Amino acid sequence: MPMNESTLRSVLGERLQAVEARLTAACQRVGRPRGDVTLVAVTKTIPEAVAALLPELGLLDLGENRPQELWRKAAALPTNVRWHLIGHLQRNKVERTLPLIHLMHSVDSPRLLEALEKEAERRGASLDVLLEVNASREASKGGFAPDDVLQLPEPLARLKFVHVRGLMTMAAPEDDPERCRPTFAELRTLRDQLANNLGAPHDLRHLSMGMSNDFEIAVEEGATLVRLGSVLFEGLS
Ligand SMILES: *Cc1c(COP(=O)(O)O)cnc(C)c1O
Repeated sequence: MPMNESTLRSVLGERLQAVEARLTAACQRVGRPRGDVTLVAVTKTIPEAVAALLPELGLLDLGENRPQELWRKAAALPTNVRWHLIGHLQRNKVERTLPLIHLMHSVDSPRLLEALEKEAERRGASLDVLLEVNASREASKGGFAPDDVLQLPEPLARLKFVHVRGLMTMAAPEDDPERCRPTFAELRTLRDQLANNLGAPHDLRHLSMGMSNDFEIAVEEGATLVRLGSVLFEGLS
């Protein structure tokens, strides 16, 4: 039997509290203020009726990995939600997606960068993006190879409307999240190297890393955005 709305609200509230406590503790361990880290709630597994309860819990940063699902939920939820696209965007969906998103986490090719710049220019509105990096070097995964990221300053210097705000990665699935630490540390090092060679309008303040299994390690390694799905929503679809 599906949960009624008040049960759902209290389950969501409890899970959020537990995650908040873990985020705060991870920040404290490394001397960072909790305010440094934005929790992006990944709503891909829950229906829009459940997602619609999140803004009243204070969760306004919501993430989707599929553009069509983001379009659908964006149309159904309040307009003060900040939408994060965290999955691949095909170039034929750029036009419809850009007006809806606050931050694009998953720019994974020079061609997509070009298409985004063209559309942002046509709209006359800037777009904040992160570059997705395959820091764990899994063959199945998209994103820029770590070495390729360091070749990007020149192409990035030509962008006027697309503003690069940092890097994003997904660690390999591990039973022991401690084993994800080198991936996160590498992303931070890459960010620092790229930042040294990149001027305005870009700035590389953000590291989007950490999912349900490994977010505390990611925060210890400098994450400014964690993308959490199952730890909040398991069993609620
Ligand atoms: C699904 C997804 C997440 C959330 O994963 P959980 O393990 O459920 O927290 C984070 N980032 C990306 C890119 C995803 O596709």
